[in-house]
Amino acid sequence: MALLADLRSDTVTRPSPAMMQAMSTAEVADDVLEGDPTTRRLEEAVARLLGKEAAMFVPSGTMANQIAVRLHCGRDEAFICESTCHIYVYEQAGYAQLSGAAAHPLTGDRGVLSVEQVTAAIQPDDAHFPRTAMLALENTANKVGGVVQPQDVVQSLCDAAHQRGLTTHLDGARLFNAAVATGLEPSRLVEPFDSVSVCFSKGLGAPVGSALCGSADFIRRAGRVRKLLGGGMRQSGFLAAAGLYALENNVERLNLDHQRAGQLAAAVGSSSKLELLAEPQSNIVIFRVDDSLGTAEQFVGQLESRGVLALAIGPTTVRLVTHLDVSAEQITHACIAIVDASR
Ligand SMILES: *Cc1c(COP(=O)(O)O)cnc(C)c1O
Repeated sequence: MALLADLRSDTVTRPSPAMMQAMSTAEVADDVLEGDPTTRRLEEAVARLLGKEAAMFVPSGTMANQIAVRLHCGRDEAFICESTCHIYVYEQAGYAQLSGAAAHPLTGDRGVLSVEQVTAAIQPDDAHFPRTAMLALENTANKVGGVVQPQDVVQSLCDAAHQRGLTTHLDGARLFNAAVATGLEPSRLVEPFDSVSVCFSKGLGAPVGSALCGSADFIRRAGRVRKLLGGGMRQSGFLAAAGLYALENNVERLNLDHQRAGQLAAAVGSSSKLELLAEPQSNIVIFRVDDSLGTAEQFVGQLESRGVLALAIGPTTVRLVTHLDVSAEQITHACIAIVDASR
């Protein structure tokens, strides 16, 4: 069966010819030696868009988050996060390996923490405990299905954290999905946070790259940590040009990805043997597979034999992600494959 749709992740996109054109014609210089002009342009554009003083281009979202953790938390400190978040689950416990920090994960309601929960988890100043130094949130929350954090909750959580002397970091790998889903400006979504990471290589369709944003002093210190981690890049403008192109051309269209996730969810919902975890709020659809259809892995195999790639993310759960390299026609095929494979 020919490949009809790759819905495993929004990271599978390839640069479009126009993005490649922007990359190949970028003005560049050695960013470690003298500064790369296109990278500077991207950093200024991101800082402006997010309403922060400064931004720094880094190779990956993981690096952006790990730099932030290192600047916010030390060896006798801990950060509070939601137990399904990327920093806690998918970054090799880098907070411990690279910063000597402890994680204090709390389980929220589909990825959303409450003020009571967070306030109760902040450790008193007592030598028995690591000092709670930071609150880290994620928007959209990936593992629970692209959940958009309610902004009033985000504001209260960050206010509570700041009042108690904590700093706040947002993993905004899919921040622009949250912006499009809520209709709120990205700068409004990140206003309560001291630092923010965003990815160009998810829904925005760039091949590489993330940015870390915050105060000018924070980003100056972040530059030292990036170099330490081996993230100092030379002619990074070729990559930054893809990020600039993505910000200009690929943000508004995320609406389409969200609509298409809704179409996939409707196909899933039409089968009595598949159970949607919840209605998708952005570009991620997660569902459970009934025993009678086998394991999640086996169901993914059934979809693959119909030309549709999905990801088994648990023994009985499957994830589909929409992105700019799937067309309306491919979504129609995927819906047919889902219905057919779950008969
Ligand atoms: C993808 C992702 C990241 C960063 O991933 P990289 O592959 O290191 O760029 C961080 N947080 C979330 C929520 C993600 O989905």
